Amino acid sequence: MGEATENGSGQQKWRFRGNKDLTTASAITVRGVLNMLKDNLSKDDPRTVIPLGHGDPSAFPCFRTTSTAEDAIVDSVRSAKFNGYSSTVGILPARRAIAESLSKDLPYALSPDDVFLTVGCTQSMEVVISVLARPGANILLPRPGFPYYEARASFSKLEVRHFDLLPDNGWEVDLAGVEKLADENTAAMVIINPGNPCGNVFSYQHLEKIAEMAKKLGIMVIADEVYDHLAFGSKPFVPMGVFGSIAPVLTLGSISKRWIVPGWRLGWIVTTDPNGILNRSGVVESIKGFLNISADPATFIQGAIPHIFEKTTDDFFSRIISILKHTADICYEMIKEIPCITCPSKPEGSMFVMVKLNLLMLNGIKDDVDFCLKLAKEESVIVLPGTAVGLKNWLRVTFAIEPSSLEEGLRRIKAFYERHASKQ
Ligand SMILES: *Cc1c(COP(=O)(O)O)cnc(C)c1O
Repeated sequence: MGEATENGSGQQKWRFRGNKDLTTASAITVRGVLNMLKDNLSKDDPRTVIPLGHGDPSAFPCFRTTSTAEDAIVDSVRSAKFNGYSSTVGILPARRAIAESLSKDLPYALSPDDVFLTVGCTQSMEVVISVLARPGANILLPRPGFPYYEARASFSKLEVRHFDLLPDNGWEVDLAGVEKLADENTAAMVIINPGNPCGNVFSYQHLEKIAEMAKKLGIMVIADEVYDHLAFGSKPFVPMGVFGSIAPVLTLGSISKRWIVPGWRLGWIVTTDPNGILNRSGVVESIKGFLNISADPATFIQGAIPHIFEKTTDDFFSRIISILKHTADICYEMIKEIPCITCPSKPEGSMFVMVKLNLLMLNGIKDDVDFCLKLAKEESVIVLPGTAVGLKNWLRVTFAIEPSSLEEGLRRIKAFYERHASKQ
C-alpha cells in the first residue's frame, strides 16, 4: 500500500490542508487580543499584573462559587447515575429544573421540551448561528457586542449587519437603525442583557419596544442572557421571554456567570415562544438536528443541575451582586478622576463598563490598541481595547475583581495618564 511518508525525491504530494475560513473567522477574538496584551507585559516590573480585561473572575477568592454547587457535582458523580451518554437535547431532570427556574420570571410556564442543553452559552451561540445560516440570510448584531457572534457568523457564511447601542441613552438599542438595516432576508436580531461589554440593563419598556420592532420586521429575537440576574442598579433584570408572545425569542444562558463556574461548560437554549412559531418554522427541528451531530455537556454536570438550581440560596446571589455593585461603584468613581477616559453611564449589570478614550489629551498614543499595549508594558495592567468589541477608541474595563486590586489598577491607569498627558 502507498505509504504516507516522504520518499526522499520530493515527489510525495499531501492532499490535505487546513480550512482557511477558520483562521479568518477567529482573527479577532477577546482571547486573542488579551493574549497579545499579555505578551506585551514587561518582565522587569516587580508589581503584580492587574487583569481588568477578563470575563472570568472564578480565580478570585471573593468570587468562589457556592459550596452548594460544589456538593451537587460531588453527589452527582458519587451517585453513579450519570456515567453514561445523555440524550442529545440533555437529560430530562436538568431541562425540567431550568424550565421551572426560568418560568418564575415569565407570564407563562415553560416545558422541559422548550429547553436544550449546550456546552456553555458558547455552544448556544454556535447552534443558533448555524441554524439561521441559510444562503442569503442575514443577522443583526449589536455594536459594541460580543465578537464570538461575528466569528461564528463568518464561519457559517451568515451575513452580519450591525446596529448601534447608544451610549447617551444608557446603551439602548438604536431601534430606528434596526428598522433601516433589516430586509426580507433578515432572520434575527441579537441582544445581550445585562450587557457585555456595556454593563447596561434594558428596561421593561425598552425590551417591549424591541419585541414590537421584531414583530414588525418578522424576525426573532435572540436574547443572550448569560448575565441573567446580575443586575445591581435601578432597573431589575427582565428576561426577553416576557415578550415572547409579541415576537418569538430564543433565550441563551448558562451557569458560567451567575454561579461563576465558566469551566463547568453547561448552558442552554430555551424557546421562549408561547405561540409555537419557532416550532412551525422548523427552527426547533434544526436545533435538534444540530445537537444530534455535536457533543453534549458532560452528563454528571447535567445531573447536578436540579440540585444547583433548587438548593442555591439567595445569600450566595446577593453576596456576589453586592460585591459587583461595590466594585462597579469604585470603578465609576475612580474613572471620573482620570481625565482621558469618560464613562457615559454607570454600569448596572454584568461585569464590565465601556469608557471612551480621549486621544487629544494624550501624547504619542495612536489609538485604543496602542493605549492598551503601552498600559500593559508600563503599568502591568490589562484592559481590553474597544476595537475587540467593535468600538474603536473605547476601552472595556472589567470590575469583577477583588476591590483592592481594582483600586490599584485604576491608580496605575491614572499614573499612566499623568505621564502621557498632552500639554493643553
Ligand atoms: C461569557 C459569555 C458567553 C459565553 O458563555 P459560556 O457559558 O462561558 O460559554 C456568551 N455571551 C456573552 C455575552 C458572554 O459574556
